[in-house]
Amino acid sequence: MPKINDFNFSGKKAIIRVDFNVPLNEKFEVTDDTRIKAALPTIKKVIEDGGAAIVMSHLGRPKGKVNPDFSLKHIVGHFSKLLGKEVKFASDCVGPEAEEKAAALKPGEVLLLENLRFHPEEEGKPAIPEGASEEEIKALKAEMKEKQKVFAQNLAKLADVYVNDAFGTAHRAHASTALIAEYFDADSKMFGFLIDSEVSSLDKVLKSPDRPFTAIMGGAKVSSKITIIENLLDKVDNLILGGGMIYTFIKSRGGKIGNSLCEDEYLDLARSIEKKAKEKGVNIYLATDVLAADAFSEDANTRIMPADQIEDGWMGLDVGPDTIKALKEVIENSSTILWNGPLGVFEMDKFATGTKEIGKAIVKATEKGAFSLVGGGDSVAAVNKFGLADGVSYISTAGGALLEYLEGKELPGIKAIRG
Ligand code: AMP
Repeated sequence: MPKINDFNFSGKKAIIRVDFNVPLNEKFEVTDDTRIKAALPTIKKVIEDGGAAIVMSHLGRPKGKVNPDFSLKHIVGHFSKLLGKEVKFASDCVGPEAEEKAAALKPGEVLLLENLRFHPEEEGKPAIPEGASEEEIKALKAEMKEKQKVFAQNLAKLADVYVNDAFGTAHRAHASTALIAEYFDADSKMFGFLIDSEVSSLDKVLKSPDRPFTAIMGGAKVSSKITIIENLLDKVDNLILGGGMIYTFIKSRGGKIGNSLCEDEYLDLARSIEKKAKEKGVNIYLATDVLAADAFSEDANTRIMPADQIEDGWMGLDVGPDTIKALKEVIENSSTILWNGPLGVFEMDKFATGTKEIGKAIVKATEKGAFSLVGGGDSVAAVNKFGLADGVSYISTAGGALLEYLEGKELPGIKAIRG
């Protein structure tokens, strides 16, 4: 698999899968162009080398049907402006118009294809009529698989080279993110800059971390993070747990958690995680004290309480000062840090201290030479809110794909290229 940086696109047509799933307002104007900007380095590399770029993406969830509200033509103007050159548009991603426009594309030119998800073959979900029998469903799925292959092949024939730069959809085995790669030989398919840096940052953390390696897992619920926690137990030296999920652990140890968030059906699992951690020599850090509140509100009364003695009628909404002090020490002495999920209800200023202080400790560790990766919607929102984004090594903005990577799953979009 070639590296995009080393590849010369001169005279070649590259079909690039990007993530232009951007928010639009009622006038169909782009309200946040972060994702378009993120794809520019890859597109520019192709055209500056003297190649032509055929750009494809999904937008929203048109569910396999043409729907003008989700047309990518709405973003042609904005995309052209950001790129600094006119972008051509094909009103269908496959078929005669796309083929003619792709064939006529000259070096340095860019063609944007219409929304891939206007075709059910992109996602590969057949429409299943109500009351269909098992057998009929099976037949419909098999038929869709065949149609998907044709669709992927029709996309592939537009270009000489395939570049995937949409990490956000790399966990989907869709036609444009995975199946299409089959129609290019090993030296004609590669990751774009965005996926390349995501994958190398994640691999640096998950496959060859400098030690000590500390993972900080926060957020509301254990249930949504359980597979990640289990996967990380094989890799980390320290596992810091924070946010609402700690109360399930504290209760499982016999502590009193008052009205704090708890998932009673996960108490046994919390115990087994602690046992596994012990067997593997992983240090688990839970809060020792918390900032408790008498309501889930910015106006609530608050008190610091021992994490395992929260009074009835009170709930832990942030970690307490002793905990912050202890966690800072662990973090500042780490060489690799992975952070996913806030330590408290950081959206309310009153309960943001733990998240902010942990963020600052990560920045400090990074200044001392640690590699820090922050990922997942809420932790990214937190580092942005506290102005810490420039102080961490890498921020991953991918949602589901990042979580699946952290869970140890092989992502179809990555495998299709890397093998
Ligand atoms: P998640 O989406 O699972 O990462 O959870 C993020 C959410 O967890 C944020 O909106 C936080 O406000 C919330 N959260 C963090 N700590 C707590 C807590 N102690 N109690 C309730 N919710 C929390």
